[in-house]
Amino acid sequence: RLQELDQLKSRFFANISHEFRTPLTLILGPLQQLLAITNQPKERQQLKTAATYAQRLLGMVNQILDLGQLEAGKLELNPVAFDIVELAKAIYYSFQSIAEQQDIQLEFESSKESRKIYLDKGKLEQVLINLIDNAIKYNRPGGQVTLQLQFPKKDQLTIQLRDTGIGIPAASLPYIFQFYYRGHTNGHTRPQASSGLGLTLTKELIELQNGQIKVESQEGVGTTFTVNLPLPPVVQKELSEHLLKPVPLPQPINWETTPADTNKDESKTSILIVEDHQDLQRYLQSCLQPTYKLWLAED
Ligand code: ADP
Repeated sequence: RLQELDQLKSRFFANISHEFRTPLTLILGPLQQLLAITNQPKERQQLKTAATYAQRLLGMVNQILDLGQLEAGKLELNPVAFDIVELAKAIYYSFQSIAEQQDIQLEFESSKESRKIYLDKGKLEQVLINLIDNAIKYNRPGGQVTLQLQFPKKDQLTIQLRDTGIGIPAASLPYIFQFYYRGHTNGHTRPQASSGLGLTLTKELIELQNGQIKVESQEGVGTTFTVNLPLPPVVQKELSEHLLKPVPLPQPINWETTPADTNKDESKTSILIVEDHQDLQRYLQSCLQPTYKLWLAED
C-alpha cells in the first residue's frame, strides 16, 4: 500500500510539475527580455531577483520531472562523445560570479588537459551543476571550492568536489541522498534555495550510468563528494538512417502564416513552430519573428 501511495504521489508531482513548465517559461522569457533592455539600476535589480527565482523554480520543476521519470524507469541514457575537461571547466566557471559575490574561491584541477569520453552529457552536466551549486551554497565567505578530474584508469573517471564549507554533521550523512532531505544548518543562515532534491537526483543519475558517489564530511571543516564513473569506449555516432530521413510534416490543420511582410524575405531561414499553447506560441513568435520566416501549427 505504501509503495502504491508513493507511486501515486510521484505521478501526481510529475503531472503538476509538467503543467508548471509552460507558465514558468512565459514568466522567465519576458523577464529576461525586459532585463536586456532596462538600464535603471533599481528596476534591473527587481527584474534580476524575479528572473533568478523563476529560473530556480524551473530548475526544481525539472528535477521533479526527472525523478518521476527515473522512478517510472523512463529516463533513458543518451550517450554522446564529448571532452569532459572542457565541459567541466565551462560549467564550473559559469559559477564564477556567484562565487565571487559570496567571496568564495574556485580552483580547477585535471590530470589531463583534454579527454574525450562517451557518456550522457546532459545528465553529467546536471550532476556537476548540483554538486558545484551545493559546494558554493553551503560555504562561507573566504571559503574555497576545488573541482578535480582524474583518470585513474583508462576506462575510469573520478570527479571530486571539495569545499571548505559548513560541513555535514555525522548524524545527517546517511540521509543526504534521500528524497527531500534538507540538512540542519546549525545556526548558519539557511540558503534560500533548498529543495532536498538535488543530491537524490545526482545519485540516481550517476547510478544510472553504473557509477558511484561517495561523501566525506566534517562539520565546520568541509565536504568532499567523489564520483566514480566507468568510461565505455568512445563511439563516434554516425548519422543513423532514421536521422537522415525527413520528418513527415504534420497535416496543415489550422495553419497560420505570420504577417506576409515578414515572410516575404526569401533570404530568411524558415522555422516551423508546433505549439498548442496559444500564449506560448505567441511568445515564441514574438521572439523569432524579427530574424526568421515563421510557420505556425497547433499540432
Ligand atoms: P538542497 O541543497 O536543495 O537542500 P540536496 O539534495 O542538494 O538538497 O542536499 C541535501 C542536503 O545535504 C542539504 O540540505 C545540505 O544540508 C546537505 N549538503 C549537500 N551538499 C553539501 C555541502 N557541499 N556541504 C554541506 N552540506 C551539504
